[in-house]
Amino acid sequence: PVFNSLSDRLTATFKNLRGKGRLTEADIDGTAREIRRALLDADVAVPVVREFIARVKARSLGSEVSEALNPGQQVVKIVNEELVGILGGQTRELQFAKHPPTIIMLAGLQGAGKTTLAGKLAYRLKNQGHTPMLVACDLQRPNAVNQLQVGGGRAGVPVYAPHPGVSSEAETPTGDPVQVARAGVAEAREKLHDVVIIDTAGRLGVDTELMQQAADIKSAVGAHEVLFVIDAMIGQDAVTTAQSFNEGVDFTGVVLSKLDGDARGGAALSVASVTGKPVMYASTGEGLKDFEVFHPDRMARRILDMGDVLSLIEQAEASWDKAEAAKMAQKFADQEDFTLEDFLAQMQQLKKMGSMKKMLGMMPGAQGMRQQLEQFDESSIGRVEAIIYSMTPHERVAPKIMNGSRRARIAKGSGVHVSEVNQLLERFAQAQKMMKKMAGGGMPQMPGGGAM
Ligand code: GDP
Repeated sequence: PVFNSLSDRLTATFKNLRGKGRLTEADIDGTAREIRRALLDADVAVPVVREFIARVKARSLGSEVSEALNPGQQVVKIVNEELVGILGGQTRELQFAKHPPTIIMLAGLQGAGKTTLAGKLAYRLKNQGHTPMLVACDLQRPNAVNQLQVGGGRAGVPVYAPHPGVSSEAETPTGDPVQVARAGVAEAREKLHDVVIIDTAGRLGVDTELMQQAADIKSAVGAHEVLFVIDAMIGQDAVTTAQSFNEGVDFTGVVLSKLDGDARGGAALSVASVTGKPVMYASTGEGLKDFEVFHPDRMARRILDMGDVLSLIEQAEASWDKAEAAKMAQKFADQEDFTLEDFLAQMQQLKKMGSMKKMLGMMPGAQGMRQQLEQFDESSIGRVEAIIYSMTPHERVAPKIMNGSRRARIAKGSGVHVSEVNQLLERFAQAQKMMKKMAGGGMPQMPGGGAM
């Protein structure tokens, strides 16, 4: 994903500092130069890089580092803190209006991901107990209204559109977007929706007329939040685009889209610092759930390959079956044996959490094992299920009885080679050992978490 190469470069740079008892000025100069190059190559805007490096250097030359027990690690800590700073510092979520509905407007270039985001945001808010309504004010792009209706349908959220019957791709609804926005908000008010999300027309480049239209919609409806959506893949152009929108519509927050892509990530690292507006959300795919709150501190940790365990846990909690988790916890407490059935249940929980690759990618040290991650075969979970289902209930709770003929029978039953059955049993034995350790109060060792 995004930031891979930046992350590689930075971690390589820090490796050189590892274990040094003292850092000379030359060490710090060299490190600063490497970081500077890595940031520029990642398309971070020049003025942002300049300021970043100046701050890192000044702090690294100070007593914070010279008096540290582990100066190398102290430099990493400084880089981490400064990175959090340019990403906007604190996490910022939507602010809801005292008197509903809260009106949220989306703005950005055409193709940035506004319409897609509208569906995701509506879905998220709905799941949080809000009653959002979408309003289609992108009357410029053919099919944008339709696309919003489809997204709203998938999210289970109503869509206000000027032409209820628009169905052909070629037909572009006419009408005045400002009027549509007003009417949409009025309808939302009448039907007691507590949030309105307005999708507006994008533009291919920065265009005064359309910018004016966005500003007009904003003031006509008194939008509480204006989210500027920007494609993380657009590179150095991000800064000028963001600045124009900041001047044109004075947005309140930024959404980075397509963070799942292979972009170098410069936009992400520049926009907050150049506009002074926080990045609030990240869009990471085309699905309704590929959307997360942007936490500057966690993102910095991800870039520096310190892992993003918090996001991992949250994602797990969101999809974890509470009853199942409670049962598992009780089992630990009772020091009951961990069986193949538990193992299967755990795998199924993991599968529900979404892509294993995405999850594993958030672990500390993930950047270092990227190659293994790329090769991770999601379908292997299905085969594990097949193998375990081919076992008798007794075999599942007492895998010790598994002799050669049982293994052969299971392999045949699940359509795999015996070696796969053996592998699974080995992995299970390891998991069982780890579970015992955790039940005993010990935490398993995280990979890559060692001292620098
Ligand atoms: P709009 O013109 O700003 O409304 O942009 P759209 O919402 O139509 O998105 C443009 C294209 O980008 C569509 O093909 C979307 O499916 C795709 N897209 C939007 N957000 C993401 C994202 O986070 N990741 C990826 N991979 N694709 C996205």
